Amino acid sequence: MAPALTPSSPASLPVSPSSGGGPAAVLLFDIDGVIRDVGASYRRAIVETVHQFSGQRPDPAAIDALKAEGRWNNDWEASLELLRRGGLGQPGRRPLPAFEALVEVFNGFYFGGDPDGDPSAWRGFIGQEPLLVERPFFEVLSAAGVAWGFVSGAEPPSARFVLQARLGLADPPLIAMGDAPDKPDPTGLLRLARTLAGPLGPEAPPVAYLGDTVADVLTVQRARAQQPGQRFLSLAVAPPHLQQPGREAERCRYEAQLLAAGADAVIPATDRVAEHLPLAPRGSRLR
Ligand SMILES: [Mg+2]
Repeated sequence: MAPALTPSSPASLPVSPSSGGGPAAVLLFDIDGVIRDVGASYRRAIVETVHQFSGQRPDPAAIDALKAEGRWNNDWEASLELLRRGGLGQPGRRPLPAFEALVEVFNGFYFGGDPDGDPSAWRGFIGQEPLLVERPFFEVLSAAGVAWGFVSGAEPPSARFVLQARLGLADPPLIAMGDAPDKPDPTGLLRLARTLAGPLGPEAPPVAYLGDTVADVLTVQRARAQQPGQRFLSLAVAPPHLQQPGREAERCRYEAQLLAAGADAVIPATDRVAEHLPLAPRGSRLR
């Protein structure tokens, strides 16, 4: 991506415009599959966790199919559900693991160290997460009057690691796992939107959410139902593992599912999101 701005200070980025009035738009991001590629980390941790307990590795399409159902945003629960569908817990088969035991195995693969400890000691798959945007991307958004933040189901240490240590965002507005009910419950999205935009309603700037799963799209639908006067925009992008050459048909199917769930637009890549934002006139809510 060619940055349009040169970073002026390594310290912190404004999350809302410095000139008067409210933001021109609020843009909230999912993190996994949108800000970072988790094909070799979270998704691989699902595969290896299922393998550890069942002896079988689910193929990527099985994970995509599960995610397309819209209610398996939590990767621990997704792993347990894959084990259940694989027959564990049925007569004559191994029992399903306790949830806590599964989480411990999963985090061993993903963090490979104490999640609450020093990230430099982590040896797990988290070390293999290519970034899908860089810090100047957020500087361009701020300069355009866009207030941005993150609503993710990732564990807080993992979310903070990618946003702060890897992207260099000093104090990013963030709702992570445990801060609010799991998506598609819209509580976290609505809370962060209000923090950045002020009270929501017809006078507020548009609120967009960019995600990569059906659960993300449904989160916006439910936010709309709770706040009918507010303008919401559900933007979606196919995750990186479906953007590889040779996977066009799968990507096409996946994008159709996002649109069928109610996405307003499917965009080709995260760094193209600004082209799809409706920007309210700056300060338009001031009377
Ligand atoms: Mg995601």
